[in-house]
Amino acid sequence: MIDGGAPKQVKGFTKALERLSLKPEDIRLIVMTHGHWDHIGSAKEIKNITGAKLALHQQERDWLEKSLTKLPPGVTAWGQILVKIMAMFMPLVHIPTTNVDIVLGDENFPLTEYGIPGKIVYTPGHSIGSVSVLLERGDAFVRDLAMSGFPLRLNPGLPILAENMQKVRSCWKVLLDQGAKTIYPSHGKPFSVDIIQKALLE
Ligand SMILES: [Zn+2]
Ligand SMILES: [Zn+2]
Repeated sequence: MIDGGAPKQVKGFTKALERLSLKPEDIRLIVMTHGHWDHIGSAKEIKNITGAKLALHQQERDWLEKSLTKLPPGVTAWGQILVKIMAMFMPLVHIPTTNVDIVLGDENFPLTEYGIPGKIVYTPGHSIGSVSVLLERGDAFVRDLAMSGFPLRLNPGLPILAENMQKVRSCWKVLLDQGAKTIYPSHGKPFSVDIIQKALLE
């Protein structure tokens, strides 16, 4: 499983399991792509239900273990406005804490042990501890390293919120080199990597 959603999303999670005819214990690993509240907020409860191990990069393990709610800066005019709006709601957000079982480093982490033909790749930029899941067939679950949906972006493209856009761009080159073809962001629908290739030229 990739990411754990915003806080209090467990009902949606159990419904999704039913829809997919999966048992909770079928999930053995939850890869948290980064520590933002909308990605780790239900991690504790999902871990309790499934018994899965939680993986998160070392730079952001504290965000889950100590309930930190950091926001990335906006890198476009709309991004800056959106961060200001989100900041007003952050005092209402609480992330239930839990321990990170697998602390990811900067090197690739193979997923073959979990029956998945792919790996975790360290892709900082949106946040310092962001990772992506890249499957051998080219599916790239990059989460917030790209954005494609309202209210973030109207069309797919690079993130409008990021700590370091230079790192975002260099991570995209790494993912392209390693065979990324179809991009799965968290916010918005999947899209072809061609769009990113064009955006990197701009
Ligand atoms: Zn994020
Ligand atoms: Zn997000």
